[in-house]
Amino acid sequence: MTNQLLRNLPSVERVVSSDTLADAVSTYGRDWVVELTRDAVADARRSILAGGRTESLGEIADTVRRTIDDLVAPSPRPLINATGVVIHTNLGRAPLSKAALAAADAVGRGYSDLEIDLATGRRGSRQAHLQSLLRQITGAEAALVVNNNASALLLGLSALAAGREVIVARGEAVEIGGGFRIPDVLRQSGCKLVDVGTTNRTYVRDYADAVTEDTAAFLKAHASNFRVEGFTAAVDERELVQLGEQTGIPVLHDVGSGALLPTERYGLAHEPMPQEAIQAGTGLVFFSGDKLLGGPQAGIVVGKRELVQTLERHPLARAVRIDKMSLASLTATLTHYLTGTAETEVPVWRMIAATPGEIKARAERWRSAVNGGPGFKVEVAPARSAIGGGSLPGETLDSWALSVSGDGRGMSAESLLEALRGRATPVIARIEDDAVRLDPRTVLPEQDDDTVRALKEALA
Ligand SMILES: *Cc1c(COP(=O)(O)O)cnc(C)c1O
Repeated sequence: MTNQLLRNLPSVERVVSSDTLADAVSTYGRDWVVELTRDAVADARRSILAGGRTESLGEIADTVRRTIDDLVAPSPRPLINATGVVIHTNLGRAPLSKAALAAADAVGRGYSDLEIDLATGRRGSRQAHLQSLLRQITGAEAALVVNNNASALLLGLSALAAGREVIVARGEAVEIGGGFRIPDVLRQSGCKLVDVGTTNRTYVRDYADAVTEDTAAFLKAHASNFRVEGFTAAVDERELVQLGEQTGIPVLHDVGSGALLPTERYGLAHEPMPQEAIQAGTGLVFFSGDKLLGGPQAGIVVGKRELVQTLERHPLARAVRIDKMSLASLTATLTHYLTGTAETEVPVWRMIAATPGEIKARAERWRSAVNGGPGFKVEVAPARSAIGGGSLPGETLDSWALSVSGDGRGMSAESLLEALRGRATPVIARIEDDAVRLDPRTVLPEQDDDTVRALKEALA
C-alpha cells in the first residue's frame, strides 16, 4: 500500500517541467528550482511514510512556487503600525525622516568620502562630521558613534574598567529588555559589579563608602522600562560628579532613549536628556540612535575628551563600528535638531507632538471612509498612545482611535486582527474591550489610504 503511494509520487523532473514552475525556471535558473523541488518531493515522501496521502504533481509544484516566493520576498517587510506605540522595538523602532532616508540612499548607491579627507586627499575619519554635530547639540567635548547602545556600553566599560570595580546603585542594576542586563554587560566587559544602596533608595554616601583603590567608575543607568514609586531616593547626578571629582573616578551614565527634546513639553514625564548629563559634568553619556532620537540604529557616546579617546583606541571600537548608511542617516537626523526642525521632520517627534484634535479628525476620516457594514460597529473612541521602546514607562498621551467591534455574530476581534496582519502590507492593531483599536498617531499620513482599504476588505 505504502509502496504504491510512493510509486505514485511525481518525479522531480516532471514537477520542475510543470507550467507552474516555468517562470521560476526562466527567472532563477533550473538548478535552484531542481534543488527546492527535490526537498519538496522528499517532504512528500516522508509524509507518506508517516501515514499521509500522496500529494499530486500540482500540489508539490505549488509548494515549490510558494517556497520560492517566500525566499525572494523582501524582508523585513514594511507594515502599518496602528498600535499607538510610537517606539515599538518589534516593529523596527523609529521611522526615519525624509532627509535621513535620502542620505542613506545617496551613500548606499555609490562611493562616498567615508574615510577620506577631501581637502588633503589623505585618509580621514568616518566620525569627524558626526562628532562636531554631536558636540554642538549636546555641549560635550567629544563624541563617538557605534553600532548600538548595548555595544557602546560594552566598549565603554571594557575600555575604562576591565579588571576593576564599577559601582552601581542597586535600583539601577536593571534589565532593559531583550535580555540586556546591566550586571551581565559589566561581567562581559570584565568588570566587577559593586552594587550599593537599596532597591528604592541610594545616597551619595553609599557610593562614597564603596570606593576602593580598585574603583574604575560610577555607573548610572536609566531604569527605562519600569518605575519605582513611593519612598524612593536617587542620587543627584551633580552630587555624584562631585564625588567623582574628589576621588578621581569618572561618572558614566546610560540615559537610554536619547531624548534631545524635553518630553515634558508634550505633557509627559521628564525623560533624562544627554545635554543635561553633560551639563552636570558626567564623564561619558550613552544613548541609542533609534529611540527618542528618532534616527537609525546606533549607539552614541558623548563626554570628556580623554575618556572618549580611550574608547576610540580600544580594539572593540573596530568590532562595533557603525556602517556608512547608518552614519549618513544619523547625521541627517541630528541636523534636524541643530536647525530646530526636529518636531516637524523627525517622525517620532511629529507623532508625539500630534494633538488629540488632529488625531481625532483622522480617525473620523477613516470612519467615514470605512463606513461600517452589517454586523460591525465602527466608531471613534478615546484612546491612549504609549511612547514605548523602553522609555517613559507608564506614560501615555491622550489620543483617539478607530474602534471596530462585532455584534457577536460576525467576525471576532481576534480574527479581524489576524486578517489585518495577513495582508501584503500588514496592519498591526490591538484589542481593547473586545474591539479592534487603530490609533492614527503612529500611522504615517501616506498610509491612511492603505489602512482604510485594509479595514474595508477585512470587513467585507
Ligand atoms: C534601550 C536601552 C539600551 C540598549 O540600547 P540599544 O541601542 O537597543 O542597544 C541600553 N540602556 C538603556 C537604558 C536603554 O533604554
